[in-house]
Amino acid sequence: MSNIPLLQQLIEALKCLPGVGNKTAQRMAFHMLQRDRQGGLVLADRLHEAITKIGHCSLCRTFTEHEVCRICTNSNRNREQLCVVESPADVMAIEGNTDYRGLYYVLMGRLSPLDGIGPEELGLSKFEARLNEGEVKELILATNATVEGEVTAHVLAEMARKKAIKSTRIAQGVPMGGELEYLDRSTLSHALAGRREYAEE
Ligand code: ZN
Repeated sequence: MSNIPLLQQLIEALKCLPGVGNKTAQRMAFHMLQRDRQGGLVLADRLHEAITKIGHCSLCRTFTEHEVCRICTNSNRNREQLCVVESPADVMAIEGNTDYRGLYYVLMGRLSPLDGIGPEELGLSKFEARLNEGEVKELILATNATVEGEVTAHVLAEMARKKAIKSTRIAQGVPMGGELEYLDRSTLSHALAGRREYAEE
């Protein structure tokens, strides 16, 4: 297909999606061109709109089209509980599967020095400022049960401890290496309900 540069460019572009290699990208490109050009145009529009209009909540950093997200502005939420997660997908999982009514802080990653992700990339100074406001009484550590997620939880718990704020860790029903967003409803709601005070090992 090297005689059709536009097709080749489309295939290359599709490969930015996770799990999409050359073969799948090719199949997607042919499908759109052969059978669903209209769908392809809608996809292009939606992509452009989402990427240019969706930003981060100035309080919790999750995705939003507004300055502050709908969870942070909801006056019925318990402002004394702050649940720290790695990604907006985790917020969606907890909102969809549990009856948690507190607020969130979204790290947009986890501490991973080898990948160049340090405290600054996770907005930890902003997080600390949030703790300093004095509103938070319980910090719920809901980072993933991976090595990096545990290290991140440890650092956050330490920050909370210095300010005499209680930290809890979601329960070990979450399998090691388990990512929150892939947990089923009952595992996730049990993990949250069974959280324990964070203790140093
Ligand atoms: Zn927010």
